[in-house]
Amino acid sequence: MGTMFGLLKARGRSSTAVKGRRGSTARGKAAVTFAARLTFDDVSRRFGDTLALDRVSIDVEPGEVLCLLGPSGCGKSTLLRIAAGVERLTSGRILLDEQEIAGPNRFVPPEKRGVGFALFPHLSILDNVAFGLKSLTRSEAKVEAYAALERVGLGHYAGEYPHILSGGEQQRVALARAIAPRPSVLLMDEPFSGLDPRLRERMREETLAILHETHATFIVVTHDAKEAMRMGDRVVLMRKGSVVQTGKALDLYRAPKDILARAPSPT
Ligand code: ADP
Repeated sequence: MGTMFGLLKARGRSSTAVKGRRGSTARGKAAVTFAARLTFDDVSRRFGDTLALDRVSIDVEPGEVLCLLGPSGCGKSTLLRIAAGVERLTSGRILLDEQEIAGPNRFVPPEKRGVGFALFPHLSILDNVAFGLKSLTRSEAKVEAYAALERVGLGHYAGEYPHILSGGEQQRVALARAIAPRPSVLLMDEPFSGLDPRLRERMREETLAILHETHATFIVVTHDAKEAMRMGDRVVLMRKGSVVQTGKALDLYRAPKDILARAPSPT
């Protein structure tokens, strides 16, 4: 498949676009990537008797922020894990920019897809962020990792280990690691759960700001309707392994088919 890490040298899209990494200068801005289209094509996943996903089709536009919303057990995480490549599908296909990355005849491993993972306790915070930067030399990776840590305001923790961090800080390190390789698609599973409401709000705003700088395509899983409507350009409502409704946050709020009928007001 083509590279997932096509980058622009300058900000914005223009004919001067180049493929490859920009110069490794540390600055508090996220790097620009080409956003990719991510397509779930008739995806099912069965675990024994449980049909966790039942023929789900969703097309995520390049640069779009899509929220997967639904009650616990409806299949949100499984869908995300399949996109990341840490879970297999039973049938259907996943396409990245029209190229099959998972399907009956093809499986691109997670590390070739550019997605995040949980923090390793035995690695320093800097090494945790640098871990995914396999295409760089070790010293280049450290420079990039440090820049990503700075971007989330945690450069001063580079030499420390994850256990000293608060929940919110761990979340930020995870975000730094997710953005460091400049993925074209960013997946987050309940990224702000476990944070207190004030911190949650701040992290959400910061994450959106970083996201808008990176121009990545973004899927966030949440069971919080308010959060989905605040963050998502589009919200996909799921229930029992199926998509119930897809639409702009406001449209779903005005004409809910399912759980939003019981959800709190978005304001
Ligand atoms: P959500 O993220 O919406 O809470 P999940 O995707 O985690 O839902 O789970 C969807 C369904 O698939 C649930 O019924 C869950 O129990 C089941 N499931 C998920 N992963 C596994 C697994 N590894 N083995 C067995 N059942 C699983």
